[in-house]
Amino acid sequence: MSTLLFTHPSCLEHDPGEFHPESPARLRAVLAALGAPEFARLERREAPSADIEDIARVHPRDFVEATLAAVPAEGYAGVDADTVLSPGSGEAALRAAGAAVAAVDAVIAGEASNAFCAVRPPGHHAEPDRSMGFCLFNNVAIGALRARVVHGLSRVAVVDFDVHHGNGTQAMFERDRSLFYASTHQSPLYPGTGARGERGVGNIVNVPLPPMAGSAEFRRGVEASILPALDAFAPELVMVSAGFDAHRRDPLAQLMLVEDDYGWVTERLLDCAKRQAGGRLVSTLEGGYDLPALGASAAAHVRALMAA
Ligand SMILES: [Zn+2]
Repeated sequence: MSTLLFTHPSCLEHDPGEFHPESPARLRAVLAALGAPEFARLERREAPSADIEDIARVHPRDFVEATLAAVPAEGYAGVDADTVLSPGSGEAALRAAGAAVAAVDAVIAGEASNAFCAVRPPGHHAEPDRSMGFCLFNNVAIGALRARVVHGLSRVAVVDFDVHHGNGTQAMFERDRSLFYASTHQSPLYPGTGARGERGVGNIVNVPLPPMAGSAEFRRGVEASILPALDAFAPELVMVSAGFDAHRRDPLAQLMLVEDDYGWVTERLLDCAKRQAGGRLVSTLEGGYDLPALGASAAAHVRALMAA
């Protein structure tokens, strides 16, 4: 079974400004890394635009419409201190969410065992009625609810190894026992949520890591806290918020991971997907702001997906 790669050129047209770390160059770095010969077997697909119905399962419809209406015809429109809209942002956000929807559809249809969505803007900070932290719509949650509601899956899990806590995903999942969210993240760090005691209805697992923690602490947290809870939840689909900003070279945080850690955690999540979910796994890009580290880390992630 092949690995699918969903992306779209429109995701390069969301431009938060010249000095903003969440730049189009990030996606170019990921796509360049996945252009190496070893990735020739990836089945590349164009991300469709998400329908409003798909987004409206996690965001109120009037919020979705207001966000799209706020996209400027020229120049920039600020959403919060670090979240900015440019003329291409609406189409990019719809394609980023649509990639998660299409990847879920394809993997559940058995067209591939897993998929990676190389898209931006990222999504995991977007709360039900608030865009924040470089994120407009919560792509991974939109995909998870597509799997739950349209495909009728009973249990869908999201594991988030971005260096920041996915406050938006947690907010959307924390009262729903059919959904599971687990996160490793640096603490203290933006957005300030994700304490170990935040457990939802028993379906949330947070593994905060102190600044300067590295591979050993990360792997211990995944093995001791996340994998047993994930197996106990018995997901029918595993989704991944794949942020690569816990890499030691990343300028926005102080964790000390290396490329190999992303290959390792991907293998562990695939093992769980095989035990519980027929191998079904859908991953979507979140953060990662050192371009060479981002490219190499995304490559390690996708290499593991292709070896599944
Ligand atoms: Zn991040």
